[in-house]
Amino acid sequence: MEDKHMLMIPGPTPVPEKVLLAMAKHPIGHRSSDFSEIIAEITENLKWLHQTQSDVLMLTVSGTGAMEAGIINFLSPGDRVLVGNNGKFGERWGKISRAFGLEVEEITAEWGKALDPEAFREKLAADNQKSIKAVIITHSETSTGVLNDLETINKYVKDHGEALIIVDAVTSLGAFNVPVDDWGLDVVGSGAQKGYMIPPGLGFVSVSAKAWKAYETATIPKFYLDLGAYKKATDKNSSPFTPPVNLMYGLQMALQMMKAEGLEGMFSRHRRLTEATRAGVKALGLPLLAADEVTSTAVTAVMPTGVEAEAIRSTMKKHFDIALAGGQDHLKGKIFRIGHLGFVSDRDVLTAIAALESTLITLGYQGATPGAGIAASSKILG
Ligand SMILES: *Cc1c(COP(=O)(O)O)cnc(C)c1O
Repeated sequence: MEDKHMLMIPGPTPVPEKVLLAMAKHPIGHRSSDFSEIIAEITENLKWLHQTQSDVLMLTVSGTGAMEAGIINFLSPGDRVLVGNNGKFGERWGKISRAFGLEVEEITAEWGKALDPEAFREKLAADNQKSIKAVIITHSETSTGVLNDLETINKYVKDHGEALIIVDAVTSLGAFNVPVDDWGLDVVGSGAQKGYMIPPGLGFVSVSAKAWKAYETATIPKFYLDLGAYKKATDKNSSPFTPPVNLMYGLQMALQMMKAEGLEGMFSRHRRLTEATRAGVKALGLPLLAADEVTSTAVTAVMPTGVEAEAIRSTMKKHFDIALAGGQDHLKGKIFRIGHLGFVSDRDVLTAIAALESTLITLGYQGATPGAGIAASSKILG
């Protein structure tokens, strides 16, 4: 059957019909006063979403572009940075940092485990010369479904005093509390196709006053991603280059929808969807990759035994037109990931768990009692 595709991957995420319809309009001039009004509203609401009075800038890039901008604007070649690496994205921020000549020290954890805040504390406390210029952390590590303890790590960064905290909040913003000003997060990167409920194509970076101070002396070359130009334009409700006008119509609508739900509403919905997904999967006898204490509220990674992860994914796709994500790198073929980020409801999770049960029966899996998954998920959602 056509047009029944269901996205349960951690990005791109489903897009509400209201947002799709908002985008189905003629583009208008990006220097027009009508468009300035849209930028003004979006900027205001982005600050609300980030819980900040400081700047949130919008770039025509994917999430990686937002993070690249967040790194290169505030540092100089040779600067020492601590990078948390416990998955695909943490690994990427180390690669970007090296590409721009930063001196990278990685703090690693096994994929599926959280970064140990104590390891950051030790490195930062030992840095009497204050040579560590930034700590770069992935808050929600999408490749494994692990949420790192940003709040605690950030406390140690604040104790250090000098280093900036640069955060990949691509799959935590909107799904988990990220109070930028309360915590004093200097740079926070995110991307459209995750918690924002719009299609891919926009990246966002929040910048603190402390980060702007670092910007003044940072010497890594930049042009398209020079955040100073974005700040100057944003202050005048404009953009330095042509923005994706129609995507921004969608963003305007999506932010209005988020405001109507409220931050607490969004966070508690994601928490509930996560618990229901995990309870359903556990009841089916399938092991979860991340422990309950460190779970991301955007994505649940499952490491099945007695049945192939890729067979589950292809059967879910073939029989139910439900897209699940696979594993990356060494977890390829070993895990599958259920996204529950953004425009996802209780019904979507129940549908996914029911389809998963049916798939397991189709594949001849013996480890579950039929109905056990749905019963466990319903308990949480009921
Ligand atoms: C999706 C994602 C990104 C950005 O990826 P892009 O493909 O560049 O949009 C960055 N970090 C995390 C944790 C992500 O999930």
